[in-house]
Amino acid sequence: ADAAMRAAKRAGGRQYAFFEPHMSTNAHEQLSLQTELRQALERGELVLHYQPKIDCRRRELAGVEALVRWNHPVRGTLGPSTFIPVAERFGLIGQLGQWVIEEACRQMKDWARVGMPMRVAINLSAQQLHEADLVERIDAALRRHGVAASQLLCEITETVTMEDVNTTQEVFGRLARIGVFIAIDDFGTGYSSLSYLRRLPARQLKIDRSFISDLETSADARAVVDAVVRLAHALGLRVVAEGVETAGQRDILVGMNCDELQGYFFARPMPADQLVAWSRRRPSLARV
Ligand code: C2E
Ligand code: MG
Ligand code: MG
Ligand code: MG
Repeated sequence: ADAAMRAAKRAGGRQYAFFEPHMSTNAHEQLSLQTELRQALERGELVLHYQPKIDCRRRELAGVEALVRWNHPVRGTLGPSTFIPVAERFGLIGQLGQWVIEEACRQMKDWARVGMPMRVAINLSAQQLHEADLVERIDAALRRHGVAASQLLCEITETVTMEDVNTTQEVFGRLARIGVFIAIDDFGTGYSSLSYLRRLPARQLKIDRSFISDLETSADARAVVDAVVRLAHALGLRVVAEGVETAGQRDILVGMNCDELQGYFFARPMPADQLVAWSRRRPSLARV
């Protein structure tokens, strides 16, 4: 239902932007953002921030998730929710996605060089899954920078994996064959079935933030998360909780045997150079 709604919204929005004579500010805004985003990609205004994922058992940094930001010359730093939809709608996501792949690999190489090898997760959008040469380009970027494929993780949301089951299975299979790890993002929002999950060569399930934020107040949320952790473990998957903001949530998740935690409680997404300093201090890790 969620995916259908988003598809309807996309289709409706597209029509509106092109055929409505009196465009709303929002449609104008999107068109101007589109022009600016093209320039931004050429001028190098995009940047990746990295958010730590903490390994509960080992009490150390398990890796980071790369989250794209736009250092806009006038509007300041923009988050992906303002421009990823624009990129998807105006055919720029391929170029943006390629930049993310390239930049993440370059950064991984950099970290390895300073003695801090790092697992990095990148996010892939629905349209990227449909690019025929996606896996080849990821493979090429890894080779170009001399980074092991097993250091890279691709996060794809559960709803996207369900939009086109055949494509998902094929692309996941090819990613797995070159050695890249796969995580199913925002899990719990898409109602995928157990048998479907079993057929996907994923390594991680990332439980959606909405369940985590309700952990302390809702017995239902606790029951869902507990069940998801057990299900994932039964399928041989690691479980990551995203959006952990409080010590209470951390304690509940550790108690449920969750494998990795990610959220503002530990660290916000930060520029690459700050991550080195952060991981040297490791302030909150001792308390995991
Ligand atoms: P996501 O992959 O589920 O990423 C998690 C989002 O939650 C990030 O938002 C992160 O900053 C935020 N977050 C992390 N911890 C907390 C917390 O404790 N509390 C709260 N309230 N939020 C937290 P962000 O960076 O705005 O990214 C939003 C979405 O944009 C991502 O969701 C992902 O789907 C998409 N995205 C980000 N970077 C890329 C990219 O390079 N390519 C593509 N295709 N999509 C991207
Ligand atoms: Mg993600
Ligand atoms: Mg997520
Ligand atoms: Mg999300």
